[in-house]
Amino acid sequence: MIKRIFSTLLILFSIMSCQSQKEVITAEKEFVESQKQTESYSNRPKLVVGIVVDQMRYDYLTRFYNKFGEGGFKRMVNEGFNCKNNHFNYIPTKTAAGHASLYTGTTPRYHGVIGNDWFDKTTNENVYCVRDNSYQSVGTLSDDGRMSPHRMSTTTFSDENRLFTQMKGKTIGISIKDRGAVLPAGHTANAAYWFRGKNEGAWISSTFYMNELPKWVSDFNASDAANSYLKTWNTLYPIETYIESGADLSDFEDGFNSKLTATFPYDLKTLSKKNGGLDIIKSTPFGNSLITDFAIAAIEGEQLGKDDITDVLAISYSSTDYVGHNFGVNAKETQDTYLRLDKDLERLFKRLDEKIGKGDYTVFLTADHGAPYVPALLDSHKIPGGLLDFNQVKTDLNELLSTKLSVADLVLKISNEQVFLNHEVIASNNLDVDIIEDIIIDKLLDHDMINKAFKGSVVNNFAFQNGVELLLKNGYNQKRSGDILIIMESSVFSDNMWNKKGTDHGSGYAYDTHVPLLFFGKGIKKGQTYKKTEITDIAPTISALLGISFPNGATGQPLEFVID
Ligand code: ZN
Ligand code: ZN
Ligand code: ZN
Repeated sequence: MIKRIFSTLLILFSIMSCQSQKEVITAEKEFVESQKQTESYSNRPKLVVGIVVDQMRYDYLTRFYNKFGEGGFKRMVNEGFNCKNNHFNYIPTKTAAGHASLYTGTTPRYHGVIGNDWFDKTTNENVYCVRDNSYQSVGTLSDDGRMSPHRMSTTTFSDENRLFTQMKGKTIGISIKDRGAVLPAGHTANAAYWFRGKNEGAWISSTFYMNELPKWVSDFNASDAANSYLKTWNTLYPIETYIESGADLSDFEDGFNSKLTATFPYDLKTLSKKNGGLDIIKSTPFGNSLITDFAIAAIEGEQLGKDDITDVLAISYSSTDYVGHNFGVNAKETQDTYLRLDKDLERLFKRLDEKIGKGDYTVFLTADHGAPYVPALLDSHKIPGGLLDFNQVKTDLNELLSTKLSVADLVLKISNEQVFLNHEVIASNNLDVDIIEDIIIDKLLDHDMINKAFKGSVVNNFAFQNGVELLLKNGYNQKRSGDILIIMESSVFSDNMWNKKGTDHGSGYAYDTHVPLLFFGKGIKKGQTYKKTEITDIAPTISALLGISFPNGATGQPLEFVID
């Protein structure tokens, strides 16, 4: 009996000790894991540099690849991660919406930036995405500084980084365009700077951020850097080596006032007189060089990446977009702009290596949208495309509606390919909105350049899984978007005075949605993928890398395969 009790006790004891051993092992494992985590969280990059190349199509990376040097785009591809099938996941693919989506990790449906400008349903006025008259200009007597991100309703990853670091991690936004600087920098930025051309040639800001420019900015402006770019624009390499683009002289380019042909060389000093003074720099690759100069000055002036608390530098290269609109995606001028941007990137990365240290900073590079080939060029190759005159469409719709319903001007506005109805008149005449919308959609579909038309209410309420309908839904903001959403045929864009030649963008077609996405530096794996990634994945990926909260409206997913 005693023997039996003893042996039972022995068994019990050995089970217990085995269990406690297991517990020790598990606890040890957990400790090691948590150590690893602490290690990786204290191992955050000192600086995150977000680079947006305005209007960069995915195939610019591949088309010009052999002409790029080793230190710019190629360095990102070779040392980092290349997402080759990266797309915008909403319509409209416009600059402001693009910059907001990139940094907030969500689409206009949630962040509210539905275009560069839009028709405000509550005031019946056009509003500009970042215009904010409750603030004053800083660094210019003009109104160009009166901006803020107040129309963007969710946070950026840079905002979350500020909150996470008790406002110690800095955020600086830089772009030629106000919207390219203000939106990425978010609500809590230390500063956003953009360029005022004309006769000033200065980097400016808004009282939203500061009451006067810091010394390094006024010093930069006083150095007359902008004026130094009023030189002759010739190709970087002999023009006959530019076999990746079309003829310099073609029917598809707009060019500059007071120069008969859109051909090299461009004497910018002379041309500046009839092309907005120093504004002409924006439409040349030198605008990107000026951004690089200023970004390098910011790294020094703001001591970015100097300590272990992560800072964010948001750079948007705008000149690629101005050049694209002016000359089109197949122009020699466009190729030269990308070859020169490659040099600017190399210069920027070298400076980051020196100042922050190789491998101590993280960079991502992408675009805010792509662009189609110029419709006239496509037409010369028998590919469909064209220009649609929305003023005429509006007139035609109002004529038809007044014939059918005996009420004039029911269509108030067509803005960003959306029809806004006059709801006051509809109510006072006791008309049925549904019937009006049906009449409009039928008429729109008669147009040979219109592919689809949807009621906003349908787009808003339907659970689309894919296709253009999902893109529309992601871009549809219930409080701001129009009553009817129009999808044009491919390679058709709105016929504005300024884009008879050159290109435009805004659609959900691949030429507008497919853009590069490159990561490199601290915490980034080497590799590439054809797996589909979306523009809204970038902010969650950077948030995951930093171990911070995702932006508050984020709908994208962190790209696990990118993070080391
Ligand atoms: Zn853009
Ligand atoms: Zn040309
Ligand atoms: Zn553009």
